[in-house]
Amino acid sequence: MTETFDILPLQDWLTFPDLPFIIAGPCSAESESQVMSTAIELAKISQVRVFRAGIWKPRTRPGDFEGVGKKGLKWLQKVKQETGLLLTVEVANPVHVREALDHGIDILWIGARTVVNPFSIQEIGETIGKADVPVMVKNPLNPDLKTWLGAIERLNQMGIKKLVAVHRGFSFFNRSPYRNAPMWEIPIELKRLCPEIPIFVDPSHICGNYELILPTIQKALDLEMNGLMIETHIDPSKALTDKNQQITPIQLKEMLGKLILRRESGGFEFEQKLEELRSEIDKLDEELIDILARRMSVVEEIGKYKQANKITILQLKRWNYLIRDRIETGIRMGLSREFILRLLESVHEEGIQRQIDVMNREDEGRRTKDEGRRTKDEGRGTRDEG
Ligand code: PEP
Ligand code: MN
Repeated sequence: MTETFDILPLQDWLTFPDLPFIIAGPCSAESESQVMSTAIELAKISQVRVFRAGIWKPRTRPGDFEGVGKKGLKWLQKVKQETGLLLTVEVANPVHVREALDHGIDILWIGARTVVNPFSIQEIGETIGKADVPVMVKNPLNPDLKTWLGAIERLNQMGIKKLVAVHRGFSFFNRSPYRNAPMWEIPIELKRLCPEIPIFVDPSHICGNYELILPTIQKALDLEMNGLMIETHIDPSKALTDKNQQITPIQLKEMLGKLILRRESGGFEFEQKLEELRSEIDKLDEELIDILARRMSVVEEIGKYKQANKITILQLKRWNYLIRDRIETGIRMGLSREFILRLLESVHEEGIQRQIDVMNREDEGRRTKDEGRRTKDEGRGTRDEG
């Protein structure tokens, strides 16, 4: 992959009235009044510059609400006339692009399900042609930086220079509080490889719920992401799509009031380093837990061995030696005596319990076996007698 991009800086085509730069609006345009009432409230928030709304909704299952289609574009035109907000909609094919451009949509976005298909990207790029419209490219559902960058590169090589990457989290099989795991290392890597590509963050699709949105926005700003796309609905409880993650314009304003805008210089590098150190801690903790689990298996082995040889569990001489020896080693490595002692006591307590459990199990097994043998012998005896 060539990693040379010819991308216009964001400031060349977007004005920033008040930071952070915000795109807000409902997941889906549902009715004229829902669109208008949401937009009118959003226009009162100085950081909101662009109004978003899904007109054609990519849905997992047929029969779910698939968007109002073309008629919604008229409602959006009204938003622009009445509030002055710029407009953005998701496009997934040439028909969408043509309709959007015909209705004066200012920015197009390509969704997570479309970005994976180079044919779709090609067709969308060709339909945009010479129209000087900016395009935001969401990351694909799977954590694959190459596909994300590949789509941006394809559009860029077709002459589109107003491009933005949108981080909306990644589908991840592990259990996580997020709807789509943020995996910040991926947008960070994108920034490192291609610093010229601006990145917006979509906390709504990352979080999937209201509670995580504020910390996720804060994190995005601390990582010096360039803007935010936040799903906002006048009454989220009645939303036809993504009900749990949408917030009201008032909630958005409150959240923005709680943000800490840190100084820019050094921020990204600081957070990047922090992220590196944290992933080192994650790896070390994993090793630590693995070592503890392995230690416990050896302890159980010893338990079985002691049981087979009818030896007691607590061997005071060994325990005293172990404490002395480990404290000495710990102190040599810069750890405090108290900490090592606390740690050892906890590990030892668990070890003793494991050995007791093993012994009980083995004893139980032996008793059952003995009983079985006795019954067999008794049976044989009865026969003998007979
Ligand atoms: C959306 O923004 O409403 C949307 C469908 O997003 P994504 O493509 O990220 O799932
Ligand atoms: Mn949505």
